[in-house]
Amino acid sequence: MQPRPTPVILREVGLRDGLQSISRVLPTAQKLEWLRDAHAAGQREIEVGSFVPARLLPQLADTADVVAYAKTLPGLVVSVLVPNLKGAQRALECGADSMLVPLSASPAHSLANLRKSPDDVVQEIAQICAARDASGSRCEIEVGVSTAFGCTIQGRVAHGDVVRLVTAVLDAGVDRVGLADTVGYADPAMVTELFGRTFAVAGRRLACAHFHDTRGLGIANVMAAWQAGIARFDACLAGIGGCPHAPGASGNVATEDLAYLFASMGAPTGVDIGRLLALRGKVAGWLDGEALHGTLWRAGLPKTMRADTAAASA
Ligand SMILES: [Zn+2]
Repeated sequence: MQPRPTPVILREVGLRDGLQSISRVLPTAQKLEWLRDAHAAGQREIEVGSFVPARLLPQLADTADVVAYAKTLPGLVVSVLVPNLKGAQRALECGADSMLVPLSASPAHSLANLRKSPDDVVQEIAQICAARDASGSRCEIEVGVSTAFGCTIQGRVAHGDVVRLVTAVLDAGVDRVGLADTVGYADPAMVTELFGRTFAVAGRRLACAHFHDTRGLGIANVMAAWQAGIARFDACLAGIGGCPHAPGASGNVATEDLAYLFASMGAPTGVDIGRLLALRGKVAGWLDGEALHGTLWRAGLPKTMRADTAAASA
């Protein structure tokens, strides 16, 4: 029997991964309401934005304000994405609890997106760790290895390349790593293989899985990663966030679907699914006209499950 660790943490990334892929700018007041309701529904780790130049992502230009509000919610781990040292310095200044630094395992993708090779990014990650240590901050640094399961530019990505980069960033001083499939190339067998190989070098510091549902395998991949020993999953409410290389494709696995998946198997996530679905309805209104995804909201919970099941068992 493979390990199926509990409790499960659903790390909400809708306010970053989701909103950055939608051209409309959600007003700050609605982001704060989203945060308040997600926290009330039991979510305890939320990526609230990204410190990238506002001209590149005007949708996330208010990240510092959103962090400031998020820090007032008790027990919430407030995370931000930072693409480089400059962004990391802003994350340290605003007191984020955790920062996520993306590192593409595909050299072609890394050069196209950042004009830096993966090894150059590893160097910058070492600088970020040094800056964090020098500041005395306790902000956790996590690297999300993207294109770990394949790349729209390069095609296949060798598992050995992923394992080598994971080892390099752990040596550079990061606290945790995760593996991400942002383009929907992963399948459950690949997930079992790559998470197994990465656990062998990272141990418990391999602590997150990030799947998109581009080709319908998102939930299956989550199951495979859970059985491999992962207990923390990125997810977007309403599955927002598309794929820039596949117009019309669905985005991240939907938070509410993962909450249901784990609740149905009796694995606590601390999330009150009824409250989460109510929030989904609110966000769907704010994002009227945008493509939303996920499945649970269509039929609701089965009669055999109470809406607060997951919260009660946590
Ligand atoms: Zn994503």
